[in-house]
Amino acid sequence: MVLFKKAKDLKNWIGRHMATGTKTGFVPTMGALHEGHLSLIKTAKNENELTVCSIFINPKQFNDLSDFNNYPVTIENDIRKLEQSGCDVLFLPTIEEMYPPDNSVNLHYELGNLESILEGKFRPGHFQGVCIIVDKLLQIVSPNTLYLGQKDYQQCMVIAKLLELTDKKQITISYCPTLRETDGLAMSSRNSRLTIEARGKATAIFQSLQYLKTNFADRELEFVKNEARKILTENGFKIDYVEIVEAETLSSIENWDGHTKIVALIAAFLDDVRLIDNLKLN
Ligand code: AMP
Repeated sequence: MVLFKKAKDLKNWIGRHMATGTKTGFVPTMGALHEGHLSLIKTAKNENELTVCSIFINPKQFNDLSDFNNYPVTIENDIRKLEQSGCDVLFLPTIEEMYPPDNSVNLHYELGNLESILEGKFRPGHFQGVCIIVDKLLQIVSPNTLYLGQKDYQQCMVIAKLLELTDKKQITISYCPTLRETDGLAMSSRNSRLTIEARGKATAIFQSLQYLKTNFADRELEFVKNEARKILTENGFKIDYVEIVEAETLSSIENWDGHTKIVALIAAFLDDVRLIDNLKLN
């Protein structure tokens, strides 16, 4: 695996490969890699000649400073895992490399209501930060395909919108399924911050989602959402949201019409660790 720390070096190197028609897949991450991340790498490897991964904990997408300060860093393990998975290139920039102090342009992306609902509502500025960094990374890597995890359901929609806004429609997005632990907890870098006790309770998120999937068609949505909230609070969660929305638009719905595709999304804290997950209900 080739490791780049400078954007210019990586851009030049990739440019030479692209000139010969090399198909490139890109997996942006914030590191503390787990099997979920590696499944994206594996898919990218199967579908491309060159697989590029980036690890960058992007300060601009953290609306909560303590979340940023406590974000797990396991870089040596990450490099080992990437090498074992056959990843070709790792981009590992510093904060100064991505945000040079003398080059602070205030970009704003018109994300519409994506920015004011669900994650957008509870993490002000988060998706602007995501767009700033993904936009920069795509200008450096220019992949044919971008691999994203459905675990971050709304982020997938935000990045699709970003490609539209920045005229990068030549880039295909591959949406990859959420990998889970055996008890259903969605794999996440933040899981490593859970205490043993909290880790035991964390599976309640998946149980709530499964409850919603089993019951949404037979009951009022407000009722099932409240029952799902109870499962979470009984297990010590502090809830940001438990919502059922249209899968294509994230528009809220009060009653299901019997055919629209819908998805349940949850964000909740266990102690000071914020976890998110989602499940398509039909
Ligand atoms: P992160 O390092 O959390 O920014 O995630 C990097 C990429 O990995 C994003 O596209 C995530 O959606 C994806 N990802 C994170 N967790 C999982 C998971 N459990 N299964 C599949 N993809 C995931």
